[in-house]
Amino acid sequence: MILDDGPDQAPDRPRVVVVGAGPAGLTVAERLAPDHRVTVVDHMASAGRKLLVAGRGGLNLTHTEPLAQFLDRYGPARARLEPAVRAFSPDDLRAWSAGLGQPTFVGSSDRVFPESFRATALLSAWLDRLDRLGVGLQFGLRWTGWADDGPSFLGPDHEEVVLRADATVLALGGGSWARTGSDGTWTTTLRDAGITVADLRPSNCGFTVAWSAYFTARHAGDPLKNVALTFGDRTVRGEAMLGDDGIEGTAVYALSPLLRASLDDGRPTVLQVDLRPDVPVDALAARLAARRPKESASRWLRRAAGLPPVAVALLREAGQVLPDDPVEMARLVRSCPVTLTGVQPVDRAISTAGGIAFDEVDERFMLRRRPGTFVAGEMLDWEAPTGGYLLQATFSTAVAAAAGVRDWLAGPRD
Ligand SMILES: Cc1cc2nc3c(=O)[nH]c(=O)nc-3n(C[C@H](O)[C@H](O)[C@H](O)COP(=O)(O)OP(=O)(O)OC[C@H]3O[C@@H](n4cnc5c(N)ncnc54)[C@H](O)[C@@H]3O)c2cc1C
Repeated sequence: MILDDGPDQAPDRPRVVVVGAGPAGLTVAERLAPDHRVTVVDHMASAGRKLLVAGRGGLNLTHTEPLAQFLDRYGPARARLEPAVRAFSPDDLRAWSAGLGQPTFVGSSDRVFPESFRATALLSAWLDRLDRLGVGLQFGLRWTGWADDGPSFLGPDHEEVVLRADATVLALGGGSWARTGSDGTWTTTLRDAGITVADLRPSNCGFTVAWSAYFTARHAGDPLKNVALTFGDRTVRGEAMLGDDGIEGTAVYALSPLLRASLDDGRPTVLQVDLRPDVPVDALAARLAARRPKESASRWLRRAAGLPPVAVALLREAGQVLPDDPVEMARLVRSCPVTLTGVQPVDRAISTAGGIAFDEVDERFMLRRRPGTFVAGEMLDWEAPTGGYLLQATFSTAVAAAAGVRDWLAGPRD
């Protein structure tokens, strides 16, 4: 076993080991660095890999909607996240980004992005700042549990490494996109320690559909733009992407908790796709009434209803003969059923639901069963739609956990 004391500068300061070099871990490190000896450890070879992936399509840091509405996005976890999000709010996150040389702008649907749009410049400026603050970074160490002196790790040669720590922060992320390092294997370690961890389930994920081979060959990869998806009493406007084995995209992600629950319960799960959400059924039926003699159904739908070929193909996939009656056809265009057969694998999901039960942590984000170990970020049991809510809760819980560490180290220990 190797016992590592970490950076030896400022030996009078408490040592904090932060495990996980994602946005949660880096935030904790930044907050504590001025008056603690902080080492960030990750089993990958570099920091912020998922953050970089998140930045590929535009790093949606947060959202500008009113805070009460914003907090509702966390559903059942709202009450537990609210103090943290209020204490480090969307405005605070935007100010922090600006402080790193990345002022933000408000993009479509009031979502907030750094000016460079991606994560690369932000992460690079952030790591420079952490370096200046004296934060140590150690890669290639996989967290495996606790030893007497601090957290223990498996090193590259399968050796056990223990980092001496006065407090430990776990910021190990969820369980999607395992190649970025967030593989969710920590769930076993925590459960072995008696800590309740809800199964990591896909969130903001796609769903499988048994498309015909004909449909897949022609339309896999096609977007359905400006549609409305309805499941139960929820309707979401947006875009869906058709893949060779299913359907995903922003509108599907927003419905994913409901769809997942329905499939988990073994209920038939049918998504209603509204292909012309802005045209009332009557108006659509009136347009469709003028069908030309011998006009094929495809040409009719494209011309009179303004549908792209992918939408016409989707109507055919609904498994019925296309109606000739304009009113029936208008109704089908406004509510085309797509039967979901399952949830796509967790590794492909944007985020995961499940994680450490909130009952296991106190208001300082410290594990009740492991005094001195704090947790932050996506590894806690909350989920939220895309739109910046994931990163906001990640940053906010990390700021709260850092404050918790400071408070705990300053006070009497139990
Ligand atoms: C494709 C994609 C796009 C996204 N886009 C957005 C977006 O635009 N806006 C948004 O709000 N969110 C987005 N997200 C989600 C967001 O990236 C995550 O919610 C966020 O990164 C979670 O941060 P975290 O620090 O909690 O965990 P992570 O970023 O997952 O970091 C966890 C770290 O812990 C390390 N680790 C894990 N296990 C161990 C171990 N045993 N030992 C040592 N180290 C370990 C990992 O290597 C990793 O570096 C996106 C996600 C994906 C996949």
